[in-house]
Amino acid sequence: MAQKPPESATERVNSASKDEDSRRNIVKEVMKMAGGEKILECIQCGSCSGGCPTRFAMDHSPMQIIKMLNLGMKTEVLSSSTIWYCSTCHTCITRCPREVDFPTLAMSLRNEAIKQNLVKNTSAKFHESFFNIVCKYGKMYEPELFINVMDKSNMSGLRANANLGIRLLKKGKIRIRAPKTEQVPWVNGILEKTSERGSQ
Ligand code: SF4
Ligand code: SF4
Repeated sequence: MAQKPPESATERVNSASKDEDSRRNIVKEVMKMAGGEKILECIQCGSCSGGCPTRFAMDHSPMQIIKMLNLGMKTEVLSSSTIWYCSTCHTCITRCPREVDFPTLAMSLRNEAIKQNLVKNTSAKFHESFFNIVCKYGKMYEPELFINVMDKSNMSGLRANANLGIRLLKKGKIRIRAPKTEQVPWVNGILEKTSERGSQ
């Protein structure tokens, strides 16, 4: 098999500078998002990750996410569980010496992940489904949310949730029929505005 000729020095420089351009553009994009304004000021001290109560569930720590964004790894960040497991408790921002607003940035990145169809984990599926249902009906419709997010291969989980559903139905806490409200366009207007703000 014919071997590929080695890249010349000029080709290597051109490709490195293309990568650098793309990294800079990604950093600029993130800095325009709500919460992303100060990512370049991060000194990787780790105070954010050290105090984060949901770090154990995240695939990358908040500190790593900021580093990845500064390296231009936006797709990896948008596919990560971290942005969905942030509970917006604000512990990190109160500790951050550079005032990096991670919780607000996580919200902006969630919106972006949904737009780019990069939502992968169950928690993200829950948020996406919740959002779509509220857009559709103007309020929550629990049975549809349950059907969308349940793990259909987990029979014991399904049974437990079905029993819970029956108890809630009997107490009038949930409805079988989808809700009807005239406020759908109004609710959609609010959701649209808040999504725009999150991605600015
Ligand atoms: S606490 Fe702030 S400066 Fe330190 S790693 Fe986290 S984001 Fe960066
Ligand atoms: S706001 Fe999010 S990232 Fe920051 S400490 Fe709380 S859960 Fe962790």
